[in-house]
Amino acid sequence: MLSVLRVLSTAGVMLMHGRVNDAPTCPEYLTVMVDGAVAGFTHTTNAEAVVAALRAAKVSQTSKVPLNLEIAYVPPRFQNYGGAFPGIYVFSTPSRMLRPVTQHPGGKTEFIGSLEQVFMHIRCQDGGNVSCQLYTHVEDGPGSVLSVVASFTPWSDYNQSPRNMYQCQMSKQTMGVPLHSFCYRPDTKLYRLQTPQRPIALTNAYDNYHIDEYPLGTNAVVAVLANTGYDMEDAMIMNKGALQRGLAHATLYKTETMTIPSGSGDVFGHQSIMKLHADDAMWRTTRLPTADNSLSTSHMDADGTARLGSVVENGDAFCSVFNRMTARAKLHRVKGSDKAVIDRVSLMNTFDDRGRRQTKLTTTFRYNRNPIIGDKFSSRHGQKGVLAFLSPEEDLPFIERTGIRPDVLINPHAFPSRMTIGMLIESMASKAGALSGSFIDASPFQSAKAGDAFPPPLTEHGQVLKRHGYDYCGNETLLNGATGEKFDVDIFIGLVYYQRLRHMVSDKFQVRSVGPNNPLTQQPIKGRRAGGGIRFGEMERDSLLAHGAAYLIHDRLHACSDRHIASICSHCGSILAPAARTTITHFESGGSVGHTNTSPDAGFLSKILCRVCNTGSGIEHVTLPFVFKYLAAELAAMNVRVGLSVGDDILGGR
Ligand SMILES: [Zn+2]
Repeated sequence: MLSVLRVLSTAGVMLMHGRVNDAPTCPEYLTVMVDGAVAGFTHTTNAEAVVAALRAAKVSQTSKVPLNLEIAYVPPRFQNYGGAFPGIYVFSTPSRMLRPVTQHPGGKTEFIGSLEQVFMHIRCQDGGNVSCQLYTHVEDGPGSVLSVVASFTPWSDYNQSPRNMYQCQMSKQTMGVPLHSFCYRPDTKLYRLQTPQRPIALTNAYDNYHIDEYPLGTNAVVAVLANTGYDMEDAMIMNKGALQRGLAHATLYKTETMTIPSGSGDVFGHQSIMKLHADDAMWRTTRLPTADNSLSTSHMDADGTARLGSVVENGDAFCSVFNRMTARAKLHRVKGSDKAVIDRVSLMNTFDDRGRRQTKLTTTFRYNRNPIIGDKFSSRHGQKGVLAFLSPEEDLPFIERTGIRPDVLINPHAFPSRMTIGMLIESMASKAGALSGSFIDASPFQSAKAGDAFPPPLTEHGQVLKRHGYDYCGNETLLNGATGEKFDVDIFIGLVYYQRLRHMVSDKFQVRSVGPNNPLTQQPIKGRRAGGGIRFGEMERDSLLAHGAAYLIHDRLHACSDRHIASICSHCGSILAPAARTTITHFESGGSVGHTNTSPDAGFLSKILCRVCNTGSGIEHVTLPFVFKYLAAELAAMNVRVGLSVGDDILGGR
């Protein structure tokens, strides 16, 4: 820091020694702070010279001022508008975000920080007015405005900007290849794309960040046409043959961890083996269990862990914890309805937070997640879609000249309102790249960097297509795979890099006829994990009403929900007063106090009496939703009586 102070002193900063009570203040003087401490003061008119001297020293080879120094100059003109307090703030501490820009006169690379950059004049290479001399720094390239994730979108400058933002969201949800140390990592959940590819059209940033090591998707032959109706509203049709050849195949890894504190008397071990050797001081685990080899433990080894490679499903035990005191084993079972393969088992000795010894067992399950109908996919242009139909390959349309059938069919209505022109360019450019055997530079703002002489991608790649005997725009004559007829119009078909997103139906689907209910309202509980239902709300009800689907609405809202047979007294109309009063009957007939008739054949329903009318003669049984009875009870608590008219002819009744 001495070098920084030396530069400051030379530039005319009055360095502060010790405590200063009557320090000069803003607006005449500006405080100079170094790493959060007041270093000195400088006159406002001298501030820019101080900053210039610091920047010069920062990039010079000879000075000892570090290259990662951040020099934030907050000019006093901002003082009356709120925001940062005017002054010169110098930072040299580690762990600050820095990025490179080029100094304008000089052309030296300077690393700038997050506070200083908002007060600097940095020109973006946007192909704009270069004669303007107001700037002090220049961005390294036109793509500097983009984040790491955004810089992977090909031709993002041709897209409507919200689509680029959607792609930034979705690229974080791709399955891809997140890491290479799958066999060492006990992450609770990991996704892995089994057949990843390098995109044909890619940006500069793709190689700068070594994304080939962590690829995100697969190149697919995409035809844009409305074919069967299965590609309506962002749904997509996929070629079943392509899928069987490995397109977008993926795996999900889940890991369960079991911990046994040392000295608890618990050990990992199979019950039959442990019992067999309970008396032995040296209990052996070499023999496989034979005696009580129940189905759920058949894939377990003698040491109480699951055997590698065995297939387990819901209810199977994957871990057995044996207690030496009780000589009993506690089995930990597989949850979820999917079949899984035991991928990895590891046993380790560790310490807990307080330094006590413990034994940890991690079991990694491997789930097959090859695409099924309902899984989500997306191109790199915010065009997401759901797989709606796996078409047999022979039924798909095919290119007349080459016989190529598309992997993916998407609907042309996905383009007009979304304006993802980048995707259309990617499609034809990748096609040109595949024909010429080269990867295509799809970096955005190429013309801003290279000037007006740069050919637009449409022209450049259209000419390549034409040279190879293809249509300039990427259209093809297609034949209907089912009928053999020629399509009336040519179809736009090309290669688009598709990402498999990790939202899959097998994690989300909900099915329920009957199941757990809320004890208070008797209505089905919510939540997929708990076996609940999804809410059938007012809008859904309106939809069924509009369709006149009366039986269905009765089934959903009543039969499958909180159907209840209530007893109603037709004399007083109360739903709450009727109750099974078997004990009262015994009281009245002189029975002993406390005697309760609990025998199952006591004729429970027949002994329901109205507590108001004191008779059972008017009791009627009516089917209604249980919440209605609950509502009556709540209203009764507020002194509001609910009366019901019961009879064969309600309209003519009371
Ligand atoms: Zn009554």
